Amino acid sequence: MHEVAVVSDLVSSILEELKRYNAASVSEVTLVIGKLTNLGREQMEFAYSVITRDSLLEGSTLVIEEEPVCVACAKCGYEGPADMVDMGYGEEHAVPLLSCPVCKGSVKIVSGQSCFVKCFDIVEGS
Ligand SMILES: [Zn+2]
Repeated sequence: MHEVAVVSDLVSSILEELKRYNAASVSEVTLVIGKLTNLGREQMEFAYSVITRDSLLEGSTLVIEEEPVCVACAKCGYEGPADMVDMGYGEEHAVPLLSCPVCKGSVKIVSGQSCFVKCFDIVEGS
């Protein structure tokens, strides 16, 4: 399960960051996950609850913000949502097929592939 490795990385980066604070616990963690990452929201939430057990993040709320797909076309200059996103159902590492809605040309992906910690709310220790 790909999600476990991703969540594990994100959680350890948060825990590393928490060393700089006098944190008793964390109430909420917000992640930004691009639509093109192929990461399942439910799997992320499940992995998060397992990985954060017995850590400062245990019991915190996981908020997942979805980053929309945005592409840029070199041919006609279009920039915005892609015409078609084919995530290839059932295929683990399917490459989405994106094309320009204006000229049907191939496009460069501007956003939609992110996977990062946006913020987290620390409950300070006394
Ligand atoms: Zn175009």
